[in-house]
Amino acid sequence: MKKRCSSVRKTWKTPTFDRMLAVSDTSLTIVRLDVLPADEADVRAEAVLHLLRELGAIGEPCDDGWAPGPRAAELLSQEVRAFYAEHRELPILLRTGWNHVSVHRRWSGYHAMDNFEAPSCPICGRVADPEDVHAGLDEWSEGQEPMLVCQDCGARTSQGDWVGQAAVAFGAPAVEFHSWEDLRPDVVTDLERALGGRTTWVRSRL
Ligand SMILES: [Zn+2]
Repeated sequence: MKKRCSSVRKTWKTPTFDRMLAVSDTSLTIVRLDVLPADEADVRAEAVLHLLRELGAIGEPCDDGWAPGPRAAELLSQEVRAFYAEHRELPILLRTGWNHVSVHRRWSGYHAMDNFEAPSCPICGRVADPEDVHAGLDEWSEGQEPMLVCQDCGARTSQGDWVGQAAVAFGAPAVEFHSWEDLRPDVVTDLERALGGRTTWVRSRL
């Protein structure tokens, strides 16, 4: 039996305690949008895992993925590291809760939940109507990505191409960082390349 992913949540007070509570039930998922045959999705998922290991992002397996690896904290953005350094908390970065990484091989949906913000038209920037964003989710769950029509410029574009990081997406494979903080831009680029094709992000908060 694999180890549980979650460690005990710390309850002591620190200057960033509120911030940590706020991020403790979050996840950042990068999703591949284009449909792939299962064997090619597996190849892509393996490429993502290989990259995560090479980066030192993941370590021991746990029941829902992998615990943060030896260099995980180094993969976080400059801003995040500066924030923790300022509060003398660099050593506890990624050690405060349910920090782990999952790689999802099969077609699944990811929703920003409490963090939801409708995405914007990739042509003119008009924000979509949340009802339109949710109207096509049944088809999308079966692999048919909906098209959204912009109410301003009239452009008809695939939903996954609408701009935003806190809406909803279906796809595979996907890599999900549970209770992590923002990653370095070069790490994001490498992950997107490993997933291949079109990708989008979903930042969730429960
Ligand atoms: Zn538009």
